[in-house]
Amino acid sequence: MSKKTLKIAVIPGDGIGKEVMPEGLRVLKAAAQRFDLALDFHEIEWASCDYYLAKGQMMPDDWKAQLSGMDAILFGAVGWPQTVPDHVSLWGSLLKFRREFDQYINLRPVRLFDGVPCPLAGRKPGEIDYFVVRENTEGEYTNLGGVMYAGTEREIVIQETVMSRFGADRVLKYAFELANSRARKHLTVATKSNGIAISMPWWDGRADAVGADFPEVTIDKQHIDILSARFVLQPGRFDVVVASNLFGDILSDLGPATTGTIGLAPSANLNPERKFPSLFEPVHGSAPDIYGQNIANPVAMIWSAALMLDFLGQRAAHDAILKAIERVLVEGPRTRDLGGQASTTEMGEAIAALV
Ligand code: ATP
Ligand code: MG
Repeated sequence: MSKKTLKIAVIPGDGIGKEVMPEGLRVLKAAAQRFDLALDFHEIEWASCDYYLAKGQMMPDDWKAQLSGMDAILFGAVGWPQTVPDHVSLWGSLLKFRREFDQYINLRPVRLFDGVPCPLAGRKPGEIDYFVVRENTEGEYTNLGGVMYAGTEREIVIQETVMSRFGADRVLKYAFELANSRARKHLTVATKSNGIAISMPWWDGRADAVGADFPEVTIDKQHIDILSARFVLQPGRFDVVVASNLFGDILSDLGPATTGTIGLAPSANLNPERKFPSLFEPVHGSAPDIYGQNIANPVAMIWSAALMLDFLGQRAAHDAILKAIERVLVEGPRTRDLGGQASTTEMGEAIAALV
């Protein structure tokens, strides 16, 4: 039987995206060799500020057609605020993908590795190991509303939250399935039903309704304020955490911040039905302050690539990459953000060699 070729769009983007992407590809190629995978990389120069400066737009008009046949998009980073305002680069690329490809899940693993200094005192490796699942398409982030009596003493601003049963149920279902697949089978539902008295009790109700199909999963509803405190004080409580767009936005930055450098944190923007390609990218941005020195930590990119393989059904390859990352974080070489002296390339090569 011939193996299926996985078509991957490779978009390095801007700044250190261009430095960490080669390390992501290096490790993917090593994994492809070891696990006999057929990976077909389509390297793309657009969705970058260089392209914008040359063409006046972030992407060509037929970007959607070019990406539609892909199994996944591997993305570096976008943004070069010196020459292109962030809202132009972001809205012209990543946010278009998110909307047009209905990537309604934003997934961020949060894990404390051995060998990485933890900003929280007294935490042991393995103690922090959970996923944040953020609703990525609706909720608090709408353009519905406006300012009345602008510029007067009576000025009033209103901005609506919109949640649909369709939109809430699909993210909750994804989170329950993820929790159900893990050993602890524990799902924390972020809420604020004591203060936001219409939408949040409704959200809690949808969690109960969707959860009825997952009797083995424990549901733990927590208000967003105490939940945030527990990310810091009792991170061992968490297994899978699901949240609306706004709460998830905050939690998905807070979580990774508790596990060390931003150079480690990966993310996925998923369309779980695979109707459209999903996108995998480091949490960090283009980091103009360190670009050009080959010192960026490539792990967030490499781990994002591993998440991509997992999503594409290659669990063994994902696990092998994670093991290689674990070992290099303990034994080195390490980049400067981890207290070492190694270059981006050296760290990427070391990980690739262990896959
Ligand atoms: P965004 O593009 O999401 O708005 P940002 O531009 O505010 O993010 P980043 O580009 O992520 O921020 O950079 C924030 C800080 O983290 C910078 O000082 C940068 O050098 C550092 N940093 C980011 N990524 C890495 C990395 N992979 N390795 C080492 N340091 C990093
Ligand atoms: Mg930026």
